[in-house]
Amino acid sequence: LMQLYFPLNFMGTLYREIRQSMIDIGEMFSIMARDPEVKDKPGASPLKVEAGELRFDDVVFAYTPERPILRGVSFTVPAGRTVAVVGPSGAGKSTLSRLIFRFYEPQSGRILIDGQDISEVQQESLRDAIGMVPQDTVLFNDTIEYNIRYGRPDALHAEVVEAARLARIDTFITSLPQGYDTQVGERGLKLSGGEKQRVAIARTILKAPRILVLDEATSALDSFTEREIQQALEKVSEGRTTLVIAHRLSTIVNADEILVFDRGTIAERGTHLQLLAKGGLYAALWNRQRQVDAARETLALDADTA
Ligand code: ADP
Ligand code: MG
Repeated sequence: LMQLYFPLNFMGTLYREIRQSMIDIGEMFSIMARDPEVKDKPGASPLKVEAGELRFDDVVFAYTPERPILRGVSFTVPAGRTVAVVGPSGAGKSTLSRLIFRFYEPQSGRILIDGQDISEVQQESLRDAIGMVPQDTVLFNDTIEYNIRYGRPDALHAEVVEAARLARIDTFITSLPQGYDTQVGERGLKLSGGEKQRVAIARTILKAPRILVLDEATSALDSFTEREIQQALEKVSEGRTTLVIAHRLSTIVNADEILVFDRGTIAERGTHLQLLAKGGLYAALWNRQRQVDAARETLALDADTA
């Protein structure tokens, strides 16, 4: 029994972390639905995206004055590259994406896209330039076709199908009696978490934004679905500036840079191999996740033979 206790304890922690991140995304959608608190400056011009470099320059942010969340954060995602953000729950990772979308504004410091301060541009142009794949996708009560096309309303049917193919959801869709005309959502077909996320990925592929913010799939999905989604995410981020908030460290080993957040600062940064060699926070997170994976495999094997 003692042998079982340890892994289960790890899994409890993991489960709480997953729950927390789902709540975060829910919050994000309720913020999106509200009137924007942050308004365009008079005479603001549209963002002009060329290469698509994203830069945080000494960003300081707090939701409430007594609790600083980001204490001077600086990093650059070079055009077309991938930077991953990891760190414990509550470290301020999702806050980065809320600031990029300008749901909130930093108290000091700047966020720049191709050298333009995002607080100076029209919000609509900013949100047009960025694609977001959240962990918990909300679908419209409409057809699958509509839900994918939402990424680019003037897209041709053939383009919708191609996006679905790249997101590895086309086989599933064509297996349905009504195919792309299948009604989904509350009053239609209920899709699994993994299927919904692949619809969101297809939508983003169709939108083809220069800049991507990804909130990764978690171990709430089975490992086959997770691998499928991972491949689809890799496809969509190819050649695009990508900031990925990672829950599974195994999916970011190839990131150009990994930022390890801890209590509002970047505690460590580097490539996967550099960070492992350092033997600090990242190495500890990595080792812990490997133990969780090993425990899960053991439990799965036990269940198979039971
Ligand atoms: P992470 O994504 O790393 O888990 P978040 O960026 O979501 O962390 O949140 C960082 C901290 O800010 C957390 O302690 C969270 O409770 C707090 N927080 C998040 N959103 C709000 C909000 N709207 N108002 C006040 N505090 C918030
Ligand atoms: Mg979060």
